Amino acid sequence: MEALTGLSGRKEAFAQLESAVHLARVADNRLLISLVDLDRFYRLNETRGHEFGDDVLGIVGNRLLETGIAPTTVCRIGGNTYMVAMQLAQGTDTCLHAVEAIKHAVELPIEENGTELYLTSSIGAAIFPEDGLASEQLVCRAESALHQSKNEGGNRTQFYNSDNTDRLQRRIDIEASLRPALYMRQFYLAYQPIFRLEDGKMRGFETLIRWKHPELGTISPAEFIPIAEHNGLIVPIGEWVLREACKRLAGMHKYGLGPLIMSVNISPVQLQDPTFPQTVLHILDEYKIQYSSIELEITENVTLKHSDTVLSSLSKLRGAGVRIALDDFGTGYSSLSNLKQLPIHCLKIDKSFIKAIDLPSAERLIVESLIELVHKLGLEVIAEGVEYREQYDLLKSWGCDYVQGFLFGKPMEPEQLDLSMIKTNDKQDLPFGEGDVHVEAGAIK
Ligand code: C2E
Ligand code: MG
Ligand code: MG
Repeated sequence: MEALTGLSGRKEAFAQLESAVHLARVADNRLLISLVDLDRFYRLNETRGHEFGDDVLGIVGNRLLETGIAPTTVCRIGGNTYMVAMQLAQGTDTCLHAVEAIKHAVELPIEENGTELYLTSSIGAAIFPEDGLASEQLVCRAESALHQSKNEGGNRTQFYNSDNTDRLQRRIDIEASLRPALYMRQFYLAYQPIFRLEDGKMRGFETLIRWKHPELGTISPAEFIPIAEHNGLIVPIGEWVLREACKRLAGMHKYGLGPLIMSVNISPVQLQDPTFPQTVLHILDEYKIQYSSIELEITENVTLKHSDTVLSSLSKLRGAGVRIALDDFGTGYSSLSNLKQLPIHCLKIDKSFIKAIDLPSAERLIVESLIELVHKLGLEVIAEGVEYREQYDLLKSWGCDYVQGFLFGKPMEPEQLDLSMIKTNDKQDLPFGEGDVHVEAGAIK
């Protein structure tokens, strides 16, 4: 046993890893081997002395042992490097949770002599059996991942690069890049027009967030929003989206269009914050936006109708005049009972349904009846994902109120939006085919 941290030293570490690999093989587990290196630890020894440094090493070692995620062995294998081996059930998410818990354990503040100290770590990880069956090979691969992590500036997690871990690695990279993305101004909004079917006039726009990362390229919201929801960053990101949408709407008066509605997607995580309604109204006041010009698009999920906070926030906002739309109806947890329980103005039928209406399908019957039902409940309907003229004709004949989709316009970047607003200027015809999509020959005449 190593006296300093109470954890086993290098020689014993490898013996313990050997048994852990054996156990994983017998129990049909995965084994996560992480080498955890404390960033710039030498600075701590230099500035606070070796005795203090040794105390810190002991505290971190104990925290790594107590993550509570899974049966774990922790050994210190070098000056400020630990080897952490965790027995995990099959499935990719367990590995992600485990490395997140390890990183978090190091980052918790350490209180020593009345001061708080914050550490970060560089982590290299390999997984049994994907990255190797023998303990030496697994350690080698975790070491190579650790080098890569440090070469890229430290304070990051790197999985050994095999095909199996590419997906995990991407998630880790996105999560790490999300934090600084907001203040590095890497987000912007795209605006997709929504049109009224009755007279072809523009109703407004849906704002859709875009992220251009200098190394990772363009990352779709479908990929990064769930990650931002998982780590809570969706709250500041969502607030930024609302501000940006309001700023843009406030600047649209100059085009002389009628009143437009700006639709903003809201995550269920934002709704769980009881201060959400105040935040929204405060931002609308700041930009002098009429409450009824903003529509919040909420999605159905399990928490939605079972949470008093969510229901009371939505009622407060609706009471103040803010519009509420139920997005993506027809996917996930959609239920007709929500239509009368939730304080909504409008329902958006998901594109997966619209896609099939021009074929003899169940979706065709469902969408037709849904429009009728929704109207009877006094709500409006927007069909999203309209790509073909046949779909548009059917929706019009069924009395659908609004349409949105590539047939009329793809989401536009801010510069494109300015140009198109000048061109549109209260135009009454729907701009068929302006979405620049592949439309089957003869579909639009
Ligand atoms: P959504 O709110 O249902 O947005 C509509 C999605 O459908 C957008 O994808 C849009 O580009 C796409 N779309 C529009 N018309 C068509 C069409 O005719 N055909 C097809 N195939 N697709 C069409 P996008 O921009 O990739 O956004 C995906 C999802 O990410 C959104 O689905 C929304 O759930 C989420 N999202 C986007 N921006 C935000 C945001 O600011 N906050 C939050 N919380 N979620 C956002
Ligand atoms: Mg939406
Ligand atoms: Mg939608």
